[in-house]
Amino acid sequence: MMLEAREKRVERQEKLLKECSCLICFTMNIAGPYKISDCIMRAYAEGVAKIYRILEQNGIETIKAEQIIEKTGMESYIALQQNPLKIKRLMVQIEDNFELGRLFDIDVIRPDGEKVSRADIGMDGRSCMICGSEGSGCARSRRHSVEELQQCFINKICDYFNCQYADYLAQSAVKALMYEVSVTPKPGLVDRADNGSHKDMDFFTFINSSTALYDYFKKCALKAVELSDKTPQILFDNLRYLGLEAESKMYQHTFGVNTHKGAIFSFGIIIASTAYLTENGREATAENVLDICSQMAQVSLADFENPNIHQSFGKQIFAQQKIKGIRGQAAAGYPDVKPALALLKKCLQKGDGFDTAGAKVLCLLMSELEDTNVIRRSDVDTLKMVHSKASAILESDNFAEEFAALNDEFVKLNISHGGCADLLAICFLLYFICE
Ligand SMILES: [Zn+2]
Repeated sequence: MMLEAREKRVERQEKLLKECSCLICFTMNIAGPYKISDCIMRAYAEGVAKIYRILEQNGIETIKAEQIIEKTGMESYIALQQNPLKIKRLMVQIEDNFELGRLFDIDVIRPDGEKVSRADIGMDGRSCMICGSEGSGCARSRRHSVEELQQCFINKICDYFNCQYADYLAQSAVKALMYEVSVTPKPGLVDRADNGSHKDMDFFTFINSSTALYDYFKKCALKAVELSDKTPQILFDNLRYLGLEAESKMYQHTFGVNTHKGAIFSFGIIIASTAYLTENGREATAENVLDICSQMAQVSLADFENPNIHQSFGKQIFAQQKIKGIRGQAAAGYPDVKPALALLKKCLQKGDGFDTAGAKVLCLLMSELEDTNVIRRSDVDTLKMVHSKASAILESDNFAEEFAALNDEFVKLNISHGGCADLLAICFLLYFICE
């Protein structure tokens, strides 16, 4: 079958070469016979896209293109009216610099049917995919088995797509944190206008903290992919270490100020849940994501009963008031996030900007949430007072002015809704990755 395919390939090339001065022939660089899987198809499509993009970026027009997808492999032909040496230089850029480039064979064929070699453009041969040895020594001496080569090939593709997905989730997470701190006005909280009730942090502290957490978010996604065959509870146990590392990194970048401890917890499990669902072939809707979060957080709630885990404010307040804070929210599947996310979508749909929509969502959260941050800085009565104020403002026709006016009062009373701010950030995150 392979021999027949090779003959057909030569025939096709000869035919196309009659119409052009340069022919690109793209195949996947896989050893031995292999099955065309979804992941190989995705990598192939990515390669085709990269070739067209670099041609387009260089203003090069395609005369004709053909694509063959058969059991023996995938081939893509692109006929050009160009100098083959120039095209070879462009294709080598993809082979050498794109993460999956080593898995691609992008041949450039002259009108006489000969391939342009790397030596023709003054370059060394490619190094071995597995051991990195220079030249074609490994291939000639068959140093690596076909199985080893195929496994390496598949691993490289999986790593690439997992990493790309984790990168997308981590980027969305940082964006959500930046959106949350940017929403103005946020009475009592740090926003673009002022620092609210806070003396030890400002807008820039949040930028430092948000950007420092990118790496943590990415690791949470990759951990979920790695443990996708385990239970959400086991996954949660494996996120703890990453969470602690992230906390100390946050303190390093904020010079000891707690900006995102709640977000480290919630974003960590939301991102992990999203990647966990996707890896298991399930749809990562907000509802499904919050359901997995709830399963994970059951484990964290048990910490309240565990005498071996050190006393935090969250544990103390649970002992006194039976208010479970962010862990309770998470274990219950973030019940307050659901109406808040619905309001965010509604506001954005009817044309509100992120400032207005974010402020309304925050006000809704302030009207209902048992925010332990408010209790810690003030007391339960203050929390109740804010609940009724926020409820009234939410219904007011004069929302923007009345909500902004709360700032002075909140600053005087040292009120800050850190917990509500965390949930607002969660709404942004779910809006970015699930909607
Ligand atoms: Zn080698």
